[in-house]
Amino acid sequence: MLITCPKCEAGFQVPERLLRDRDRPLRCGQCGTMFRAPEPPAPEPVAFQAPEPPPPAPVVEEPRPAPTLVAEDSRPEPLAARGASLERASAPASRGLRAAWAASIVLLLCGGLAAIIKRDAVMEAWAPAARLFAALGLG
Ligand SMILES: [Zn+2]
Repeated sequence: MLITCPKCEAGFQVPERLLRDRDRPLRCGQCGTMFRAPEPPAPEPVAFQAPEPPPPAPVVEEPRPAPTLVAEDSRPEPLAARGASLERASAPASRGLRAAWAASIVLLLCGGLAAIIKRDAVMEAWAPAARLFAALGLG
């Protein structure tokens, strides 16, 4: 719902859940003025109000415009914050693991290649290697 600050007339898009409690004061993020949310344009009839649906899970952070209009006792959402920090922590670790795997594969290939190129020296130093190279068709 669009709310306009009564002092500086800055417009804010405020989530409906912040406006459910009409006694909660709102603070303008631009000039700091405290004011109450205006009445909604079409109030629902109280007599036929359906029971509140259960809150959806998981908690999704709503994108907030800048400057923001904040409710005075708005609490942080620990579920969403924890998920975000976990994501940040695990991303570099998996990248590092992939790099380590790539490095060990390259090292292994280089070692094998060097052993084949220098097989005369290898066979001289370690005689059983000659059988291995023969079996590979390199003797
Ligand atoms: Zn204002």
